[in-house]
Amino acid sequence: MCGIVGYLGYKAIAPLLVESLRTLEYRGYDSSGIAVYNNGTQNINIYKATGKLQNLVEVLPADLLMEPPIKNLQVGIGHIRWATHGAPTVENAHPHHGHHGEVVLVHNGIIENFAELKQVLQGKGYVFNSQTDTETVAHLLEDILKSHQHDFLPAVAELRRQLHGAYALTMMHKQAPGKLYVARQQAPLVIGVGNQGEYWVASDVVALVSYTNQIIYLEDGQYAELSEEGGVKLFGPDNTPVEVKIHTIQTGPLTIDKKGYKHFMLKEIYEQPDVVRNALLERITSDTSPVFIANDTPVSEKESVSIASLSQDVDRVIIIGCGTSYNAGMVAKYLIEELVRIPVEVEAAGEYRYRNPVLNDRCLVIAISQSGETADTLEALRLAIRSGAKTIALTNRPDSTMAREVGGVINVRAGVEVSVCATKSFVAQIVALYLLGIMMCEHRGVAEKLAELPELKKALLTLPVLMEAMLSNVDPLQKLARKYGHYTSMLFIARGVCFPAALEGALKLKEISYIHAEGYSGAELKHGPIALLDESMPVVSLLSDGAVFDKMLSNCQEAKARSAQMISVTNKAIPHGYENTFDDIISYPACHEWVAPLLGSIPLQLLSYYTAEFLGKDVDQPRNLAKSVTVE
Ligand code: GLU
Repeated sequence: MCGIVGYLGYKAIAPLLVESLRTLEYRGYDSSGIAVYNNGTQNINIYKATGKLQNLVEVLPADLLMEPPIKNLQVGIGHIRWATHGAPTVENAHPHHGHHGEVVLVHNGIIENFAELKQVLQGKGYVFNSQTDTETVAHLLEDILKSHQHDFLPAVAELRRQLHGAYALTMMHKQAPGKLYVARQQAPLVIGVGNQGEYWVASDVVALVSYTNQIIYLEDGQYAELSEEGGVKLFGPDNTPVEVKIHTIQTGPLTIDKKGYKHFMLKEIYEQPDVVRNALLERITSDTSPVFIANDTPVSEKESVSIASLSQDVDRVIIIGCGTSYNAGMVAKYLIEELVRIPVEVEAAGEYRYRNPVLNDRCLVIAISQSGETADTLEALRLAIRSGAKTIALTNRPDSTMAREVGGVINVRAGVEVSVCATKSFVAQIVALYLLGIMMCEHRGVAEKLAELPELKKALLTLPVLMEAMLSNVDPLQKLARKYGHYTSMLFIARGVCFPAALEGALKLKEISYIHAEGYSGAELKHGPIALLDESMPVVSLLSDGAVFDKMLSNCQEAKARSAQMISVTNKAIPHGYENTFDDIISYPACHEWVAPLLGSIPLQLLSYYTAEFLGKDVDQPRNLAKSVTVE
């Protein structure tokens, strides 16, 4: 969360910072700001605005957005905020400056000991203008600089000693106008290298790919000084110089385009057939071919690690994730346990990392994160690595921190997901996990299960066509959204492998329409949530053909008996005798039981989308959310 950018070079700086921030808008949109060194006044000018980036553009002086008349070195930083400490106001927007205006900086993360530091600094007369933890860093750095003869790098070393928590910082020093300083601790930060002393800084390489493919990935505890004449001076956690490694990345400039769709979310829902095709490409070629999870090597020089060898000789699988990734892991648990006959636990990363879990070298830990940067999942993964477990990162970003640190990487290949509300990445994660499950089954030779694989592979290979058929008729879902859009609460129920899809359906609805929604197993309804039911609480049931279809029908009857409005999303005809159970029925194609959560999720995504659209919500940038959750 929060996006950071920085630039040092001869291009017009304000447009460059703004355009770079635009690529990071998925990380937050509470406020934005830039700071630019003014070569004339020799001051650092700060501009900020609340809300979307466009509001910042409107407060920038016109001349700042134009090519500078004289080609002076341009130095500046920018920030897009997802507030952790302090409301989304202009005062709390970054960049923040120190008491004397000597230091200006932007921050991603949380300074956990900010309150103690602030008290000490206030005692020394430092005046705070915001409620952020970040402002403490700016004042503290100025205070430290006083005792370090304004020598910035030793001051950063001392700053790092005093700060507890997570931070990616990009800093400017008024007395060093041609320099940028960066520091990374548990929050991502990359440096882009241009020609002849031109540098970019960003939270994510997507902000840099339009300018350079030469990237330095900062590691935790590292900090650096960037300047035209001195290049990159990089230091490790022990304050000793570190050799700079520049990676050449393959990604070209990104085209972020709605392609005629009203929202990115809708476009991404419609991309799902191709996402599945891409996820299967060269991995399953026919219903009888073995599955090969290609070693989509994350960074060119990383030794390729065989997913197959990592998943052998393990007694347990532990899947770690947050939010949608957690729900994808839940779907996979059903399949992997069935096919591989090995226990699978699914853990919420934020809880797991603070437990003392039982882990050893016979555990396979799979960390799922779209961005590969999710703070809790990354720390849980690091815990697993330290415990000697075999580890795999399943991510949409094979260049991410997780991918760089882990034993093996599975690229989910969903393509760039712009909408904050995850859709195609959920489907892609499940497909990738299914491939892993099939591969483990093939390698571990669970005889009676091997016979089931051709059918499952065929089902996966036919998924894209079925998805396309579903996406060709969305009218019933638009109507449903209009009918139920004014309700304030909804339940989503399912059983078996579709149960996690109900969790995900509820999550989508609350994320973008702000309607309270909960997902439950149909079996759990009577253990509490049924008390909520009356005519004011619609129940969406994902009814899929298979072992638990009849059980779910009974659960739906139980809900109808409490006067709930019942909506069924089903791939099987509703049997006689149940005509009055459902107020609305959305049908989707008959399919193999294991792929039902993949198909059944599509109507639920569309229901959320059309409901949010009907209610006039900000579909792609829902309030309070951001995409890459790099804070705890
Ligand atoms: N803690 C800082 C703030 O609230 C940065 C938040 C973040 O990185 O998400 O402004």
